[in-house]
Amino acid sequence: MPASVVNAHAIRDAITRLGDPNYSRWAAQIRRAGGCRQPIHLRGRVEHWDAATGTLLHRYSTRTEPDGVLRVPCKSRRASRCPSCAETYRADTFHLIRAGLVGGKGVPASVTAHPCLFVTLTAPSFGPVHTRREKNGKVLPCHPRRDAQKCPHGRVLSCTARHGADEDCLGEPLCPDCYDYTGSVLFNAVAPLLWKRFADALRRHLAKLGGLTLREMREQLVVSFAKVAEYQRRGVVHFHAVIRLDGSDGPVSAPPAWATLDLLGQAVRHAASVVTAKIPAVDGEPARVLRWGDQLDVRPITMDGELTDQAVAGYIAKYATKAAECVGTLDRRISPAEDLVALPIREHARRLIAECLRLGALDELADLRLIQWAHMLGFRGHFSTRSRRYSTTLGQIRAERQDHARDEQITTGRLPLFDEDTVLVVTHWEYAGKGLSPGDALVAALAAPWLWDGGQ
Ligand SMILES: [Zn+2]
Ligand SMILES: [Zn+2]
Ligand SMILES: [Zn+2]
Repeated sequence: MPASVVNAHAIRDAITRLGDPNYSRWAAQIRRAGGCRQPIHLRGRVEHWDAATGTLLHRYSTRTEPDGVLRVPCKSRRASRCPSCAETYRADTFHLIRAGLVGGKGVPASVTAHPCLFVTLTAPSFGPVHTRREKNGKVLPCHPRRDAQKCPHGRVLSCTARHGADEDCLGEPLCPDCYDYTGSVLFNAVAPLLWKRFADALRRHLAKLGGLTLREMREQLVVSFAKVAEYQRRGVVHFHAVIRLDGSDGPVSAPPAWATLDLLGQAVRHAASVVTAKIPAVDGEPARVLRWGDQLDVRPITMDGELTDQAVAGYIAKYATKAAECVGTLDRRISPAEDLVALPIREHARRLIAECLRLGALDELADLRLIQWAHMLGFRGHFSTRSRRYSTTLGQIRAERQDHARDEQITTGRLPLFDEDTVLVVTHWEYAGKGLSPGDALVAALAAPWLWDGGQ
């Protein structure tokens, strides 16, 4: 169908929506969904019954709503899928991370006195790639090698360009045929395991430095962390983490005096350097031992110095809503039967995906589930995780927001105020679709100024 016909349909549907007597109800739903790009449609009802007398006190049904459905936010964490819901998640993550640094949301302000580091664990090199580095505000040459040899593919492995910040070549290999695509996707696949081993080694080394057994240490010291995975442009993940020392009751209690910032730094460096993940020999290739790259960054977080709590919380929250699509891969699963050449992606991403599909078909590597995670270039971990005692939880932050929304509904008369102990609430919901029709999307986009003002 030509685009002009689609637009004509959308415009006709938009006019129908605007002329609908129920328009203000629809606008209110869209407004409450906070600009969600792909709201979930729910059909159902909520009934409030008096538990003692069996009387129906109040009934809400979506039958009276526009199109018979309630539109609620999709709650996606991925900015590429729904910018507005991802923004909510980003903001919640920010408050949660910040509470763990300076207090708030139930965490006492005394937490600022606990030893705390911002640590970046990187991937090793899998071959030279085009990069942009700056020093004292000046852009450095990419990869200059005065007496660079030609590689077996006839390419000179040197690049003296000073690349712009948005150049397409950034993160791409100087020679794609020399680049270790196998190592790159295997590293992503074992990165969650390396993280786990790092965290275990960190605890063990701290105990050793304190002259305690692990069990003895647990009675006086808890290691709390919040971490986020970030894709570098070359397509490998690295981790940023806030690592903090608490007393045995978590952030409310001070760690023992021997557990200093210096000691934590020492234990982090040790743990990052010793942990490994082994890959068996497969398909004619030798066994490999994967480990973190040499570029370990360990910095204290301060309230006003170079690296502030605001900056750290902002950084972690930002990457919590991003995935591999920033590297130019696809935001969906890829089937081995697909024609990779036809996918609208960059050559570097295509080769990483192809390597995931190749290795994923080998029995010895089945556990790594590389085919299912090919679109993530092999990484199958969570983007943003926290240890149980880090600070408050996203659930608590969400519940606070929902309480607030509920209070608002009560004051605007949508929900009757009942005593929760004597009232039985019966709810029934079913999924009735997702997204906005082209016409509705047009109204939501174009009518935004009066959508937000009208209809209450
Ligand atoms: Zn959404
Ligand atoms: Zn270059
Ligand atoms: Zn080469």
